[in-house]
Amino acid sequence: MSADADCLFCKIAGGQIPADVVRESERTLAFRDISPQAPTHVLVIPREHHRDVASLAAESPDTLAELVREAAAVAAAEGIEAYRLVFNTGSEAGQSVFHVHVHVLGGRAMTWPPG
Ligand code: 5GP
Repeated sequence: MSADADCLFCKIAGGQIPADVVRESERTLAFRDISPQAPTHVLVIPREHHRDVASLAAESPDTLAELVREAAAVAAAEGIEAYRLVFNTGSEAGQSVFHVHVHVLGGRAMTWPPG
């Protein structure tokens, strides 16, 4: 799916809203979360609009694989060996922006289960 005019992350991908971009690939963009929950908190998004990770997996599995490779590359560039990748899926699970993104969280000890 191409850009959605009302989508915050489509606007970041399109350069209409600024972001602290740390990495780019052909199909993805990585930028720092505006409200970091760990010393490293980066969001990796596909440039194209997909609602959530299940939609992305169904509609563009190659892009999902690139998203995960890029998330690992972000962690490596940040110098963190242990990190958490989170895809909140659905509002009850904490998804607030309905353009798929993976959170790359690291730089501190993580607890389990998550809240
Ligand atoms: P979700 O809750 O959907 O899993 O994650 C959305 C994330 O986007 C949140 O962690 C939130 O802090 C972040 N966020 C919301 N608005 C902006 C923004 O304008 N810029 C950036 N860089 N992050 C944002």
